[in-house]
Order: sequence, then structure tokens, then C-alpha cells
Amino acid sequence: MISILKETIDQFISYAREQEPNEACGILISSWNQELIDNFIPIPNTTNQRDRFEFDAKVFILTLYQIEEKQWCWHGVIHSHPTSSAYPSSIDLHNWYYPEKSYWIYSLRDNRLNIFYIDKHKVRQHDYIIINKPWQRK
Ligand SMILES: [Zn+2]
Repeated sequence: MISILKETIDQFISYAREQEPNEACGILISSWNQELIDNFIPIPNTTNQRDRFEFDAKVFILTLYQIEEKQWCWHGVIHSHPTSSAYPSSIDLHNWYYPEKSYWIYSLRDNRLNIFYIDKHKVRQHDYIIINKPWQRK
């Protein structure tokens, strides 16, 4: 079962509120257990439109290097929907190329977080658990 730390969700929500009315986006990391997402790295959204996101390519590449260097796992991406539901838009489906990565959408309007896996426009919703406190890290 995929788990995510509550503090990671809270970190994303506060970032997403700062970015309103635009969508906020970034990378979700598993730093020590592939089933547990425990870090969020914001990536600037380079579109000036409010219904889509595009990663800043340079920051994205640098982030991937950082992930590799630290031997973290790139679990997936997350982005906000400021005024719509927490489901992928047709633009989202069109722009997604990583079927093995998790695809998280947080609706600021509905205060709802959903996770999906998207393969060639086929959307599969997944369950997750929110972990309130990280246990002792070694
Ligand atoms: Zn979207």
C-alpha cells in the first residue's frame, strides 16, 4: 500500500496556496522506503494558464540529478487544481509520459487528494494511506 506523510501533504498544500490562482506542481520522493512518500520538491510551473502545468525543464533536470545523487526514489508527481476536482483533465492525460510513476492531484476547491496511474490515457485510481508521524529513521 502506498503511504504518504501528512507533513508532505501539508507542505504541498501550503505551496499550492501560494501559487494560486495558477496550478502548483512538483515531485514526490521516497527517501528511504519505496512505499512511503516522505518529501515534496516544488518545480516551478512555466505556464501562465490556470488549467495546466509544465515543469521548468532546468529545475526538473537538476532535481532528477539530486534524486539520483541522494539515492532517493522518484515516486511520482503532484499538482494542484485550484478550481476543479481532483481528477486528471484531458490536458493532464495528454501531457503525461510516465505510466510507472504515481500521479497525484490535489483539489484546492474540494480539499481532496487523489492518486492515479495513467498509461496511454487509461486512468487507474489507487488507494493510499496518510501517515501522521514518521517512525524512527535510521
Ligand atoms: Zn491537472
